[in-house]
Amino acid sequence: MKKLCNIALTTAKAKRATYADIRVIFNTVEDVSMKNGRPDVSYREINGFGVRVIVNGAWGFSSSSKVAPAQVRKTTLEAVEIARQAAKFQRKPIRLAKEPTYVDFWATPYIEDPFDVPVDEKLGLLSEIDKILRRNKKVINATGNLHAWREHQWMATSEGSFIEQILLRSGCGYSAETSNGKILQKRSYPCAFGRQCVTAGYEYVRAAKLIENAARTRDEAVALLTAPVCPSGKRDTIIEGSMLALQIHESCGHPTELDRVLGHEANYAGRSFITTDKPGKLKYGSDVVNIVADSTMPMGLATFGYDDDAVRAQRYYVVENGLYKHYFTNRDLAHHAGEKRSRGCNRAHGYSKIPMIRMINLSLLPGDWEYDDLLADTEGGLVMEMNKSWSIDQMRINFQFGCEAAWEIKNGKKGKLYRDPTYQGKTVEFWNSCDAICNNKYWHPWGVVNCGKGQPGQTAEMTHGCAPSRFRNLQVGIAR
Ligand SMILES: [Zn+2]
Repeated sequence: MKKLCNIALTTAKAKRATYADIRVIFNTVEDVSMKNGRPDVSYREINGFGVRVIVNGAWGFSSSSKVAPAQVRKTTLEAVEIARQAAKFQRKPIRLAKEPTYVDFWATPYIEDPFDVPVDEKLGLLSEIDKILRRNKKVINATGNLHAWREHQWMATSEGSFIEQILLRSGCGYSAETSNGKILQKRSYPCAFGRQCVTAGYEYVRAAKLIENAARTRDEAVALLTAPVCPSGKRDTIIEGSMLALQIHESCGHPTELDRVLGHEANYAGRSFITTDKPGKLKYGSDVVNIVADSTMPMGLATFGYDDDAVRAQRYYVVENGLYKHYFTNRDLAHHAGEKRSRGCNRAHGYSKIPMIRMINLSLLPGDWEYDDLLADTEGGLVMEMNKSWSIDQMRINFQFGCEAAWEIKNGKKGKLYRDPTYQGKTVEFWNSCDAICNNKYWHPWGVVNCGKGQPGQTAEMTHGCAPSRFRNLQVGIAR
């Protein structure tokens, strides 16, 4: 593989590229799913490579699915030509932040390879869940799925790095949709939107208590049909981790991507209110709010040895004791944030896309509350769980989220169930209203598998760890 990669590097050098890299990717994906008793199995292998070059101070990129020496040469020449043409319109030459070179191998740690578990066994598990979910006639759709993903990457740069990585993901999830002929409701497990994914082996699926939670998921989906609509007003609200993860993603993750801040990326999901005068000055949240970017955390979907700039994985504070600190950066844009080194957030979707700044794992650190104590301390408030809908403005200030379910807090416990809960707020006000976070017993890594960005669009995955947290006087439902 090294020999193949060298063809790209030497071809680019001969054409006066000042920088070049090649990423070869062999990707394998298996999805086993079931909908209302009907099984579906898909298996895909996607192989290819992408070459990036800097010529005359501009980027060029090209890719191919034909992993062969002649094709590597041809694709590299295409990338060089694209860079030459792009340079005619480039106002300032690309400047790459310095990074040591690495010759290394990195792989996701796991116990049981999900691809080694027989499909029949997986279908058996999904069938068992399906039977439990459809035991009530009000369930009109029961869906479940198991996911396995492996990416074997080799990356070589003209600076001398040669990095081999094997990333492995496992995922599982199901949901029950109910109807009484008038309204539709839904409950999901372990999280909304199909499945919870982690970088780990099948041991994660075995420990996920899928069967144990199926009857409760079904019964809650049925109960929501006759539950009253969540009341509107200002309420102290405990947001469960499954919902809070998306809140972190939308209101902290995206506005922290430096290319949005600079206006280089705006079309897909907008820009950012966290302008470059804000680090070290903006009181983003209350003192208990600590948000950490971390591509080294166990089980994170953006956990790797090196990013697609060949920059080593890092951990750093984005928000420390409520104060905004750092952006997501890459080698190309780091200097705009006044930083000498990239924070290792350059990532591409597969071999055929050019990498760009993507959020890595971004987590709210645990606090010190026991969950039951927090309930007892929030009498008259609400608990909200699992996202159902989201909306946030182009600068990431105003947001509204809908959840699958809410409960009133009465006598120190979760009481009456409410359907169709929503809440809304403004990012900085919201995070400053956070006054209690549960401890690490309640902290879970929640995966996002559908983060879209760029034109042409790219999908990325990342994880947001968090524990149930309380937000004071949150606007719930319709503001009057
Ligand atoms: Zn996103």
